[in-house]
Amino acid sequence: MTQVVDPSAARSGAADAAGPGAPGRDAAAAAAVDHWIAGRRVPGTSGRTGPVFDPATGRVAREVHFAAEADVDAAVAAAKAAFPGWRATSLSKRTEVMFRTRNLVEAHRHELAAHLTAEHGKVPSDALGEIARGLENLEFATGVAHLLKGGFSEQVSGGIDVYQIRQPLGVVAGITPFNFPAMVPMWMFATAIACGNAFVLKPSEKDPSASLYLAELLKEAGVPDGVFNVVQGDKVAVDRILEHPDIAAVSFVGSTPIARYIYETGTRHGKRVQALGGAKNHMLVLPDADVNMAADAAVSAGYGSSGERCMAIATIVAVGASADPLIAAIRERLPKIKVGPGTDPAAEMGPLVTKQHRDKVASYLDSAAAQGATVVADGREHPLYEGSDGFFLGVSLIDRVTPDMDCYRDEIFGPVLTVTRAETYADAVQLINDNPYGNGTAIFTRDGGAARQFQFDVNVGMVGINIPVPVPVAYYSFGGWKASLFGDLHMYGPEGIQFYTRAKVVTARWPDPGTSKVDLGFPRTR
Ligand code: NAD
Repeated sequence: MTQVVDPSAARSGAADAAGPGAPGRDAAAAAAVDHWIAGRRVPGTSGRTGPVFDPATGRVAREVHFAAEADVDAAVAAAKAAFPGWRATSLSKRTEVMFRTRNLVEAHRHELAAHLTAEHGKVPSDALGEIARGLENLEFATGVAHLLKGGFSEQVSGGIDVYQIRQPLGVVAGITPFNFPAMVPMWMFATAIACGNAFVLKPSEKDPSASLYLAELLKEAGVPDGVFNVVQGDKVAVDRILEHPDIAAVSFVGSTPIARYIYETGTRHGKRVQALGGAKNHMLVLPDADVNMAADAAVSAGYGSSGERCMAIATIVAVGASADPLIAAIRERLPKIKVGPGTDPAAEMGPLVTKQHRDKVASYLDSAAAQGATVVADGREHPLYEGSDGFFLGVSLIDRVTPDMDCYRDEIFGPVLTVTRAETYADAVQLINDNPYGNGTAIFTRDGGAARQFQFDVNVGMVGINIPVPVPVAYYSFGGWKASLFGDLHMYGPEGIQFYTRAKVVTARWPDPGTSKVDLGFPRTR
């Protein structure tokens, strides 16, 4: 069974490091979530804060400081100062530090998970799953010595060799979403730091405490002060990052409108940018699919983490005769899903992140009905929707959804599965390819030829064959197509190494008496 940890009793939390009795800070201020600059917590200079909710109770659990431009500047200055030393640190030493980081995160996963449950609302089993996938990125980063090997060509011309090396960029920044407060930062900083960069993280203001907990683990693992920094906050911090002359590259994960803004603004300021956006992931079910397998997958991937995953299945495309039996099989499973707070060891699905988001998700049930869809299950009927101050919503299923409906067009990002019926495989693929998003997709079938054709046809970056959430393992790279990614390099894995380094090609020869002469012609190899 999953271990449930009280974050207030965790190794260190948002509230505890400064200590309630810390000089010059009253109890309320001590409960605020700080920035992490040059290896220590600092409250920053803006005086602005935002609320951090406990989504299971609806209460404001703490405040988070919002950085002023000067705070971002301080973090970048700390990173810039730390970069030369870190870059010069041997690969063996950097590998050792990444190993220690990996082991510390693994050893303290329950405390870290407790922060995720307390601020995001995801249940402990889900929080631990997120951390496990983040650990894969730290494990990948321990292979940096191998991954940074360049190429060498001997004797490209008489006595001349050419070799390529990859060097870190300098100070790089990451801006992350609320839905994976531990894993997505690890997607970025594991690779960035291992490659020799110094990193500035701007986490989501909705669940900021995990970032500070990770900062402490990195410090304990031996990451030098200044190599990893955290600035909490909102658009003020983001905009300063995007224009800061000392930041070489920005990684972003979040919604599509902000991803586009980050890409356009960051590149306009001369930065390398990878900006991963939102999603609308389709699950295509052919009539020959195993109905029980497809229903289990749809329910797990549609409602896991309350549908707040960028790789969640949002919409099922049921081809031909597959629709009715599939919907019946899904309906059968819905009443068994246990919705509840993360403190309940039996809970499988927690609340949504904020009341505002919960209410927006619920509003699609009304618009779907008004626009002609059939609401098969309405999450508002769950007792916790009315009977709790937490941001709960039960699971919903909407059938006969067409592409013009709001519930199809928008990324709902909640526990709402929609079903669109298609007559043929070709119609189904056309629907997926016409959708502006292209993050993940899945096909359910027993026909290998159909699956292979689907992987060939579909304009989506990550494809599952009878796998509903095809998040690539850390030694591949993660990235969608179309409006799900701006930039050309995917995140983590081999493309992450490319993103966080740049190539330098050296052409070299050594003095060989009598072989040099003046030659004003363009250098030739023959
Ligand atoms: P969001 O876009 O609202 O926020 C992401 C980050 O951008 C946060 O750090 C936030 O503070 C910042 N931000 C928000 N508004 C801003 C503005 N106007 N100017 C500058 N910065 C701003 O996203 P979210 O709600 O935190 O996360 C959910 C979204 O992220 C969903 O759309 C989901 O699909 C997407 N997501 C995508 C992936 C992926 O890999 N493609 C992974 C996880 C989440």
